[in-house]
Amino acid sequence: MVGLGTPSSPWVRGVTESAKDHGLRYELLSGSELRERFPQHRVDDDDTVGFFEAAAGVVRPERGVVEAVRAARAAGAEVLEGETVLGIVPDGDRPAVQLSGRTLLARHVVVAAGAWVPRLVPGLDLRLRVVRRVQACPRSHRTGTSRWVSAGTSPA
Ligand SMILES: Cc1cc2nc3c(=O)[nH]c(=O)nc-3n(C[C@H](O)[C@H](O)[C@H](O)COP(=O)(O)OP(=O)(O)OC[C@H]3O[C@@H](n4cnc5c(N)ncnc54)[C@H](O)[C@@H]3O)c2cc1C
Repeated sequence: MVGLGTPSSPWVRGVTESAKDHGLRYELLSGSELRERFPQHRVDDDDTVGFFEAAAGVVRPERGVVEAVRAARAAGAEVLEGETVLGIVPDGDRPAVQLSGRTLLARHVVVAAGAWVPRLVPGLDLRLRVVRRVQACPRSHRTGTSRWVSAGTSPA
């Protein structure tokens, strides 16, 4: 995996610190090294560096979910597919999960509904704020270079 940015950019600094913290092998490539080794990226300036991690890869989340479900079933779990949880009754001793036409009683309920958690568990009072984060890759007419930018505010 190779990522581009200026040496002082939060991304390059952050990913470099993270790689050091976790003892990962990486190379920080100069503009000229990027042009030589990754000519598919147009890097026309020498302010851009490349963070290259040879052992990095891409995880296919769908396969990960399929494998997690397979492992859960192999361990004896019953997996219900295509069910919509209509509500959760947060009883301390016997919480209930309401489905269409029936209610499941459990010892514990783990809610992993991503951005829908506040809808399913409105009383949680999660201090999270959903914000829009626009990502784009504009191209300069002057230099012909492209650069990823991420605009938006991060939740406090
Ligand atoms: C465009 C985009 C790109 C991303 N790229 C990356 C990336 O490169 N790397 C990375 O690490 N992360 C990435 N993320 C973030 C990553 O996708 C999330 O952090 C991750 O999916 C969160 O997982 P989760 O299981 O908590 O929630 P989710 O994946 O949102 O899963 C929640 C599930 O709950 C289900 N659900 C909700 N309500 C109900 C209900 N009432 N009944 C039944 N089911 C319900 C939903 O259908 C959903 O399947 C990206 C996110 C986006 C939007």
